[in-house]
Amino acid sequence: MEAAQNDSNNLTPEVIKKLIESAHEAKKKSHSPYSNFRVGAAILTEEGKTIRGCNVENASYTLGLCAERVAIFKAVSDGYTNFKALAIACDVKDADLAPCGACRQIMHEFGGEYKVILSRTDFTYRTMTMKELLPMGFGQQDLKRPRMNYNNNN
Ligand SMILES: [Zn+2]
Repeated sequence: MEAAQNDSNNLTPEVIKKLIESAHEAKKKSHSPYSNFRVGAAILTEEGKTIRGCNVENASYTLGLCAERVAIFKAVSDGYTNFKALAIACDVKDADLAPCGACRQIMHEFGGEYKVILSRTDFTYRTMTMKELLPMGFGQQDLKRPRMNYNNNN
């Protein structure tokens, strides 16, 4: 066994390519009849499992959910909360589309160390870290900070 296989942060080009392919496969399941904007996401867990998500829109427009959050919620509901990378795919050409703010916040909940792979239709990609996408993100540690005391009379 190669030592690299034990390195949890080792994302080889082959691993990234497979994750991007998974995100593009997930995109094919997109339910986006209103925006016609298909998005797929594939998240790689520390355990090596890939979990896919697609955007799911609704006739009540505001109830839709982005592919990134679908993938993360699926992963968490299956017991996975430690991630190595998240690949995102859409149909936009010649641009690196980044996740929306809501997705960045959900992604931040599960650590700031994993890689986010923004892929294009030709499977080229740009890699970013969570900290680059959401600097100074609000997280669990902020809820533990000392706070002023108050009561309802003030
Ligand atoms: Zn989003």
